[in-house]
Amino acid sequence: MSKEGLGLTAKKKNLQDWYPEVVLKSDMADYSAVKGCMVIKPNAYYVWQEIQNYFNERLMNLNVRNAYFPLFIPESFFKKEAQHAQGFKPEVAWIANDENSERLAIRPTSETIIYDSYSRWIRTYRDLPFRLNQWANIIRWESKATRLFLRTREFLWQEGHCVYETREECDKETLTFLQEYEKLCRELLAIPVLKGYKSENEKFAGALYTLSIEAIMPDGRSLQCGTSHNLGQEFAKSFGIEFLGKDEKKHHPWQNSWGISTRLIGAMIMLHGDDKGIILPPKVAYNKVVIIPILFEDSKRDVINQAKKIQTLLKDFNPILDLDGEHSPGWKFNNYELKGIPLRLEIGPKDLKAKSAVLVRRDNGKKISVKLKDLKKQIRLILNGIQDNLYEKASRLMKSSVVEARNLNEFEKAISNRKIAKIFWCDSVTCEKDLKERLNTIKSILLPLEQGKVSGKCVICNNEAKVMAYFGKPY
Ligand SMILES: [Zn+2]
Repeated sequence: MSKEGLGLTAKKKNLQDWYPEVVLKSDMADYSAVKGCMVIKPNAYYVWQEIQNYFNERLMNLNVRNAYFPLFIPESFFKKEAQHAQGFKPEVAWIANDENSERLAIRPTSETIIYDSYSRWIRTYRDLPFRLNQWANIIRWESKATRLFLRTREFLWQEGHCVYETREECDKETLTFLQEYEKLCRELLAIPVLKGYKSENEKFAGALYTLSIEAIMPDGRSLQCGTSHNLGQEFAKSFGIEFLGKDEKKHHPWQNSWGISTRLIGAMIMLHGDDKGIILPPKVAYNKVVIIPILFEDSKRDVINQAKKIQTLLKDFNPILDLDGEHSPGWKFNNYELKGIPLRLEIGPKDLKAKSAVLVRRDNGKKISVKLKDLKKQIRLILNGIQDNLYEKASRLMKSSVVEARNLNEFEKAISNRKIAKIFWCDSVTCEKDLKERLNTIKSILLPLEQGKVSGKCVICNNEAKVMAYFGKPY
């Protein structure tokens, strides 16, 4: 990287300029020759692998098996569930190679192709619950501007598809998977989320209801991080999925589907980064430590030898040892701060004598001198501390981003201050559509799971309030 290219020109407070610049310069992703598509570079792909590792273990605990279904979906399948077909219509890419055969959709989601198989595989109540997940790529032919990780025509995700005998089981596990997503965001990516129901307008096309987790970004906009849909029995009816019950009669089962995507990487970058670059939560950082020897002519050899010993000692943290002689230590500091390496270790002639090293935290810049004999233990503690600090900082941001609005005036003030407004709401489709006509980008974010006491009038339309809801500007 050239000297003039290092460092960011945009400040984090100008998030719309900062975000694309930091994604490119921190080496997380790149644009490609194909419009609307992105290249996921190794450090970002590692984050995705860690998400996969974490979630695959959870899936095993929840008796969900991994499988893989075709990328292509016959048009006739797609049309079987009318609401679903209508909802995805604008963003489906089609293949029509052969005049004599049916057009194929490139999957924007796989309910239809998977449930066609389920209709042949599920026979009796003994087959239930039936739980599969697939890790796959998805195509949604977006016309809006590309945003790396957040809006691209192709992205990676997992989609779970389960089938149950009863609504109760289906409700229960639809929530379980949402809770798993919340836990993954918290434990792995240090992202706190709001969780709740999507409004009728915003739910998944064809679902009975949609549960969602939403992270709040530094500009006050919400970013959907995962969804879990109770699909009811409609897909089962459309695809002829039936099981012979204990009562020896045929029944349509209940189904859910749930997913998270590489969008989470975008949320992580946007939430934790600063004016110097990205900050990787230690749990998903490929290199958790970078070792930078401070070299002077007379002590060079000894310091390099010591740095190599430290590299071996710290192999659990997969440290980078930067022995490049061309750049100054200061240049190197900036470079690894840009790339978000959680911890920097500096070792120079003074440290050599004192049998110590200096550690510098990426999250708050604090310097700590540590004796070599304590190094491994201390680094483990500090990395945990960084992980916790990132989560706490993001939690404070989330808290300060949500404000209660008791009337239309307060609501509009909250919105213009780029906050998420918590209001009493009538839960009506027309109310939300009217609002959208007035304030184009403002939507309901979600209806929190814990509703509390609801009374009085809808803050937006003044009809009877039925629910508590968050409104704001989503990504
Ligand atoms: Zn209303």
